[in-house]
Formats: sequence, C-alpha cells, structure tokens
Amino acid sequence: MTRSGTTQYRNLPAVDKLLRAEELTVAINSFGRESVREAARDTLARIRQQLQAGNKTLEDNLQQPEFYGNLCQSISELAESRSELSLKPVFNLTGTVNHTNLGRAPLPESAMDAIQRVSARAVNLEYDLTAGSRGDRDSHVEGLICQLTGAEAATVVNNNAAAVVLVLTTLAVGRDVLISRGELVEIGGAFRIPEVMGSAGCHLKEVGATNRTHLADYKRAIDEDSALLMKVHTSNYEIMGFSKSVAEPELAALAHQQGLPFVVDLGSGTLVDLAKYGLPREPTVADSLLQGADLVTFSGDKLLGGPQAGIIAGKHDLIARLKKNPLKRALRVDKLTLAALGAVLQLYDNPSELSRNLPILRDLTRKTEEIAVVAEEILPCVSRYVANEADVEIADCKSQIGSGALPVDLLASLAIKITPRAAKGTDNLLKELALRFRQLPVPVVGRIHDGSLFFDLRCLQDTKGFCRQLSN
Ligand SMILES: *Cc1c(COP(=O)(O)O)cnc(C)c1O
Repeated sequence: MTRSGTTQYRNLPAVDKLLRAEELTVAINSFGRESVREAARDTLARIRQQLQAGNKTLEDNLQQPEFYGNLCQSISELAESRSELSLKPVFNLTGTVNHTNLGRAPLPESAMDAIQRVSARAVNLEYDLTAGSRGDRDSHVEGLICQLTGAEAATVVNNNAAAVVLVLTTLAVGRDVLISRGELVEIGGAFRIPEVMGSAGCHLKEVGATNRTHLADYKRAIDEDSALLMKVHTSNYEIMGFSKSVAEPELAALAHQQGLPFVVDLGSGTLVDLAKYGLPREPTVADSLLQGADLVTFSGDKLLGGPQAGIIAGKHDLIARLKKNPLKRALRVDKLTLAALGAVLQLYDNPSELSRNLPILRDLTRKTEEIAVVAEEILPCVSRYVANEADVEIADCKSQIGSGALPVDLLASLAIKITPRAAKGTDNLLKELALRFRQLPVPVVGRIHDGSLFFDLRCLQDTKGFCRQLSN
C-alpha cells in the first residue's frame, strides 16, 4: 500500500455518516435502510481494495469535489440492482417452445386473473361451503379433468414426477412394477424411470428388449410379486426401425386378467387431438383411459399449457387410495396452482378458440407468414444494436415443441441470424454477444449454432418491447 493510499483510505466516509446523507434518502426509502447499508459497506470495501492495489485514478478521484455525489450514486445503483427479483421474464427465442429451463408453458390471461382473484384473500380451498365443513382441494378441478378425459376421478400433485412417485408408493411398495426395457426413459435433469422406482421403494422388473417387447414377455414376467403393469410414453425419443411395443388395449387386458392395475405415464398430457390444429398427433389422456388404463399420469405445464402440476386421472377406487396416502399431503398443490389450472382447463370447453386463447397452442400453431412479419419488424433494431460487429439476416429455422413432447417433429419457423464479422468472428465474440443479449433488462435467450446466434421468432409476441430495450 502506498503512503498516499493509506491516507486516502482513512479519508473515506463512514457507513453511518453515508446513511445520513441527503443523497441516499431516496434509495433508503425505496430499497430499505439495511439494503443501502449493505450496498454502502460493499462499495466502500471495493474502493479500499482498489486503493490498496494502488489504483492511481481512484486516488485522484477521491480528491475531486464530485466524489461524494458519485459514491452515493454508486451505492444507490448497487442497492437498486440487488432489489430486483431474481426470477423475471425473459424472451424465449431459443426455438424450443415449451422450454423446461425457461418455465415451460406461459399462462393465459384468464389463468393470471384467476391467480390474482384467490391470492390476496381467504378462499374456500379445502372448505365445503354447502356443508360448512372440511372439503377436498382437488374438488376445484376434478370435475373438469373428468369431463375432459372421461376419467371417473382425479387428483393433482406438484408435478408429473410426483404423480408417478405417489402412484408407485401407493400401489407397489416392496413389489414389482413391470415395464418394457424400451421405456426406461430419462426425462431431462434427473428424472429417470428406474431411479424413480427405486426412490419409491418398489422394484423395477424389466420386460423384453430395448427395441422389441412382446405381450408374451409381459405374461412370462408376471408372478405373485407383481404389483402393476406400467407403460411410459417415450415422449423424448422414438425407437425406429426393427421395433415393437405392446399396444395399450392388449396390456390392459393382460393386467386385468391377472387382477393388476395398468398405469400409463403419459408425460405431456394432451387433452385434445392436436391434428385438429395442424400439429402432429400425440396420444391423449382420453385415448389411454379408453384403451383400458386404470390410471394416467401427466404434466400440467407441458402440452396441456397450464401451471406446473402433476395430474392423475382414472379409476375411482385407485384415486381414493392415492388421496389417502400421507405422501399426498407432502405433494399437494397450492391455491394459486389450482386457480390457474382450473382456468386453463375451462378454455378446453371451447376448442375452436383454443389456439387463440391458450398461449402454448398459439405459439405451436403460429403460421410462418405471421412469423415473417415479426422478423421484418425487428430486423432493423437488431441490426442497429449490433451495428459494426455482426451481420444480421433473416434465416429459415426449425422450432422444437420441447419438454419431451413430439421429439421427431419440427415446426418450420424463421429466425434472426446474427453472425459476427468474419475478421473477428471468434467463438468468444459470439458468446460475448449472446451474453450481452442475456444481460438486457428483459433478457433475450437465443441459440448458438454453427458460428451464428439465432433468435427463433416463433415465441416473440411483444415486438415493441423487444425493440424498445435495444434502442435504449
Ligand atoms: C415430463 C415427463 C415426466 C416428468 O414430468 P414433470 O411434470 O416434469 O415432473 C415424467 N414422465 C414422462 C413420460 C414425461 O414426459
């Protein structure tokens, strides 16, 4: 440390004195005294560190009359940036419509209204208003689920992984669950069917081979330790070529012959025939139930387009057993989820308007002509933003549905393609550029591919907001 550095160091104002400064009153009123105190402490610590490191510019600045004002401004800005909530909206221009890391399905207006209606007041969450006694929280959505799927009963938990765990711990603890080797799927992060089975305390009994499983394989595998037959919808991959799996009606018939329940983990949980909306067909919950499944489990926030939830629909007696399992208490959803889910399910009552009212379906069915209009609209502001660093053009691309649904089918779309100028077109420059977009107030998340940054415009609705933050 230099001599002058030591002296300067001593001349820095004390935190308590700063907190009394008029320049910080606005910050204290907006972000709280403790937050500003912490910001002041950290800012001073940073300055001391720089002085210790012999930063001459800082030493000079310290002598200037405006130093004090600038210091207060830095402290206010630090407090402000820290007061921003960490969880915030982003522009999902990755090309994956239902992106698990970006929060999956955006909710429709009606669901947001429903959340608002129940969030700040007491509600009849578990209260039967007719009887004046305790009610069942599932009752707010169970009727709708049954109506849309043909199920006798239903229950709702935190997500589909929880739904599978609840089913297994209720029906198969210490016993065998029969499942085809071709269906031992891993879904994203850590949800692997074999591991879920283990954590639920039941034994996985693998049936058949990876590419081919026959009814006779299941028959042979059934014995007195068998608890149930399970089919997992292989939603994030397809086995092609020399492959065979057993259809649901045959499996259901075999299970019932042996007095065992037949459970289908459907994953994405489609409630309507997507072919009607020009999309590839996915099996629906109603299909599985019609084909003999006793229970079907599915997500609320994949193709269903609602909040994160796991829904179990099926036979009355089995659902009753699930509801009695103490684990249900640990996995249950809150009033906000039920409010949103109810509002989303209601939209299905009006199928002809669904692709307009349900954001996930709106984005999946968006026409390329409409995406082209978006592309033309934002091309100039992106070009200006990266002016001398990169070339910007409109390019064809393919969007994915995401969240494991419809793995093979891709949707034609358009992207803004940003390519750093060849002379300096290094990998690092591309990463830097992508980072700069992610650091905007509403972060823009794209996809790096083949030396360019792609913004797939399928999910971009707020073009004005997008351009506004690039021009600031
Ligand atoms: C996505 C998926 C799950 C997990 O569902 P979450 O709602 O993410 O918990 C389980 N099984 C299948 C087949 C899936 O596709």
